[in-house]
Amino acid sequence: MNVFTYSRAESVTTAVDEVNSHSRAKFIAGGTNLLDLMKVNVMRPPHLVDITHLALNQVEENAAGGLRLGALVTNADTAYHPAVKKRYPLLSETILAGASAQLRNMATNGGNPLQRTRCYYFYDTATPCNKREPGSGCSAINGFNRIHAILGTSEHCIATHPSDMAVALAALEAKVLVTGKNGERTLDFADLHRLPGTTPEQDTNLAPDEIITGYDLPAQGFAQHYTYLKIRDRESYAFALVSVAVGLEIKDDRITTARVALGGVAHKPWRIPEAEALLAGKTATRENFTLLAEAYLQGARGYGDNTFKIELAQRAIVRALEQATQTKTNA
Ligand code: SF4
Repeated sequence: MNVFTYSRAESVTTAVDEVNSHSRAKFIAGGTNLLDLMKVNVMRPPHLVDITHLALNQVEENAAGGLRLGALVTNADTAYHPAVKKRYPLLSETILAGASAQLRNMATNGGNPLQRTRCYYFYDTATPCNKREPGSGCSAINGFNRIHAILGTSEHCIATHPSDMAVALAALEAKVLVTGKNGERTLDFADLHRLPGTTPEQDTNLAPDEIITGYDLPAQGFAQHYTYLKIRDRESYAFALVSVAVGLEIKDDRITTARVALGGVAHKPWRIPEAEALLAGKTATRENFTLLAEAYLQGARGYGDNTFKIELAQRAIVRALEQATQTKTNA
């Protein structure tokens, strides 16, 4: 039995202080991933700081003309919030493509992008895994790797990030609001997650004492032209093999802004702004979409079982862009 202690924080400040005062302590809110990991001995925090009572449970207007999503708003309440549905339908639909209704009722906005990889070997403590036990090796590279990454991999880890919500937040260029012992800071969503490199045990650029308090969505929500295309082994309660979040702005039949974020292919939501820029001023044709898709997959590498993802991702990007072109406004 793994013994751990527990405390409940009543403010962000005390939550940060509590985590700082216990070695290897973790915050817990919905617990939908952390508790699973504790049950199978993959994570063994000696102390949990319950943050469910913090005042971070609102969706409200922000100074940028967008919305601020509190970290403790559940995924379900976020997806069904009238302002999110109307102004950020991409985010709403993406959240609803993930997990199950029961999990979305428990999982929080702060925790969702912090969930850990579903690499089989990460969960199997009988096998080497650099993410679970640094320096032990990677069982997936020469093992069964159908769900693994094709972009941004390293010789130390080829895991993918499992969150759907994170893919939409990347496409929307959300800001991450963070508080730690050194105060508050804001980072671009693109900078939240890391590539595995030589330190795959570190999923994010957050310090251990830092807590996500919310996300700021910019005013541009792509409510007229968007799509989330999720390709998976079954229609519900499955992680993406490949997913594509698209937001387009189209004026006078020309694309003025394109956002394309991929899920299921890398250690973080995958965006290439230079490739997105290829569509600026272009018409919405399959040829132009194919150029972008090829640019996204340049340098992709398959490891055997997952090599099919390279062509699948290219096709999915083109299809998602075509769907986004046709999306009718609900604004
Ligand atoms: Fe561990 Fe990453 Fe290798 Fe999976 S891919 S076994 S998480 S090191």
